[in-house]
Amino acid sequence: MNVQMVDLKSQYEKIRDEINTGIQECIDNTAFINGPAVKEFQQDFEKYLNVKHVIPCANGTDALQIAMMALDLKPGDEIVCPAFTYVATAEVIGLLGLKPIMVDVDEQTFDIELEGLEKYLTPNTKAIVPVHLYGQGANMEKILEFAEKHNLFVIEDNAQAIGSDYTFTDGTVKKTGTIGHIGCTSFFPSKNLGCYGDGGALMTNDDDLASKIRMIANHGQEKKYYHKVLGCNSRLDTIQAAILKVKLKNLDQYSAARNKMAAYYDENLKDIAEIQIPERAKNATHVFHQYTLKVKNGKRDELQKYLAEKNIPSMVYYPLPLYKQEAFQQYVEENYSLPVTEKLCSEVISLPIHTEFNQEVSDYIISEIKNFFN
Ligand SMILES: *Cc1c(COP(=O)(O)O)cnc(C)c1O
Repeated sequence: MNVQMVDLKSQYEKIRDEINTGIQECIDNTAFINGPAVKEFQQDFEKYLNVKHVIPCANGTDALQIAMMALDLKPGDEIVCPAFTYVATAEVIGLLGLKPIMVDVDEQTFDIELEGLEKYLTPNTKAIVPVHLYGQGANMEKILEFAEKHNLFVIEDNAQAIGSDYTFTDGTVKKTGTIGHIGCTSFFPSKNLGCYGDGGALMTNDDDLASKIRMIANHGQEKKYYHKVLGCNSRLDTIQAAILKVKLKNLDQYSAARNKMAAYYDENLKDIAEIQIPERAKNATHVFHQYTLKVKNGKRDELQKYLAEKNIPSMVYYPLPLYKQEAFQQYVEENYSLPVTEKLCSEVISLPIHTEFNQEVSDYIISEIKNFFN
């Protein structure tokens, strides 16, 4: 049996003609840089997200970096982020000469833990970066309250949760990535809205921030060859935009397919005592970028090895807390330790999930997991 973490080939087969036409158009027009598809995708995406500004860029890491550059922070300023996330979230903070304050997460939702967070704040703390990990929105209402109280910018890392809805207590529904001051996302091929190469975008409802972001992503210029600030060169390829235009139309259907696959796993794995199926947040829908189990009794690595022997791929996102990475030693005291993050690093395992549900393959994965625990 051929089991893959993601099945982009079968997905492509269903939209092949539309995708190929879109790519061919770019080539026919030789509109490789900032061609019409970039603006069209930007507008479609603004509409889908119900956000005032989308600024496309070269990848999700650039989006985070540009967001932080737009906040006019000074060297030594501090940004709070979870310690349990992909490296990009914290890496760009350090690259800009800022200090990442890596904090613990909630064990159920993997969401930045606000309880006790005050003790990490200093007069230099300027921003907080919630990560909507695995496809489920963080508790944005609480995070906004916290940020307002402490006068912090909120930059959402929405690379894994495009399409997720967050509902506020008053009933207002917003897409993740459009709630904080700036949202960032990635169109890496395996992300929920992925292109066929690299891509990313920033989202904001703030006109001033939007102009600044646009300027920074374009060498710090508003008028060609007149550079107001130091910027970078970060653009979304026209060909990638043409692909994203097609895939955006299918995004809700893709999220539904991922949810169907997740529900099938849930139903069949929920009674295994030694694993915890993904727990749902109260206010956010899940778009299952990853389907992540927690394995008890120290059996995670054994399970992963067993599955590999059965040709079932799985991934550990993430095996090592950021503050234990060599590159981040400069930001923490010796023996810095966060209990939940460390527990999760030893317990989590992500199973294959994508938009192309296949009953036979899913049954095979489930039966081998059951065999392992029997
Ligand atoms: C993928 C990802 C990024 C970075 O996106 P790239 O496009 O690969 O640069 C940032 N944060 C998180 C949480 C991600 O999953």
